Amino acid sequence: MIIVMRPRASEEEINFVKAQVEAFGFQAHPIYGEVKTVIGVIGDKTGFDSEVFFNMPGVETVVPIMKPYKLVSRELKSENTIVNVDGVKMGGKRLVVIAGPCAIESEKQIKEIAHAVKNAGAVMLRGGAYKPRTSPYAFQGLGEEGLKLLNYAGKEASLKTVTEVIDPRDVELVSSYVDMLQIGARNMQNYRLLQEIGASKKPVILKRGLSATIEEWLMAAEYILYNGNPNVVLCERGIRTYETATRNTLDISAVPLLKNLTHLPVIVDPSHATGLSNLISPVSLGVVAAGADGLIIEVHNDPAHALSDGPQSILPQHFAELMSKLENISVTVGRSI
Ligand code: PEP
Ligand code: MN
Repeated sequence: MIIVMRPRASEEEINFVKAQVEAFGFQAHPIYGEVKTVIGVIGDKTGFDSEVFFNMPGVETVVPIMKPYKLVSRELKSENTIVNVDGVKMGGKRLVVIAGPCAIESEKQIKEIAHAVKNAGAVMLRGGAYKPRTSPYAFQGLGEEGLKLLNYAGKEASLKTVTEVIDPRDVELVSSYVDMLQIGARNMQNYRLLQEIGASKKPVILKRGLSATIEEWLMAAEYILYNGNPNVVLCERGIRTYETATRNTLDISAVPLLKNLTHLPVIVDPSHATGLSNLISPVSLGVVAAGADGLIIEVHNDPAHALSDGPQSILPQHFAELMSKLENISVTVGRSI
């Protein structure tokens, strides 16, 4: 439920209600809005009578949250959440474009790509060091050595960095090298990982599971917020359908739908959604028009020899062309790039 405080409720009144919520054994999540403060009351309320809060000083009303997810819901927080990745703000007016290879392969490769995407206007560098591959025989990533290379390349090109973490035991180590974590599609419902990242407070991209419904995805995000980390960005990366012409099927409607259901930023990964390099540009333009807050795109300087996801990786020069097209569409939808 949400306790809505009166517009001019004092700090004492807010703190008093918060303390009462906690005294009943619930978690209190105050959200200090420009006009009103609301307090999210999280916990099992079976048999609990919310009437008690109505008569407390400064309380305007008490409303239930109908959705199973609470902390991520628009019902609780009407303003957009801006996730700040060491100065890069995701979820605001500016479109955030993240680019880089699927996997970090060598110092030369990651540095070359980092400089190229920076020159084209990307603000963050992606690159996998721990790759969740379908086959155990496929390249698994460079591990900690890859993290070091990503860190150097990001610093050298003045780009913030993001990488996937696949094991809850690695959260601290990975966090020490990058600005943002990524939870991959295959781990969207790895609850130990969600809890660990929840406790870490590190900004995180939560990708949609291979066959996850919107509700399952938002419940996964709820785990992270519930454990204390509000810095979650959702990433639509296509879902599995009967269609085999593309790697996955991009659910473009997820973008405006999520914008209604949640206050969290929403980005799109056209690379894993389509699996085809020639579809990256048109799909990117489409999702920005649909309201995406950003994109994460696989860019490689030699896609034919990439150790992972070559067929969906675009060349730096094609990425630069896409960036200039994105500029026009951003203006049309009232954003900047
Ligand atoms: C990736 O970003 O390289 C990746 C493995 O993505 P996903 O988890 O969406 O498949
Ligand atoms: Mn990939």
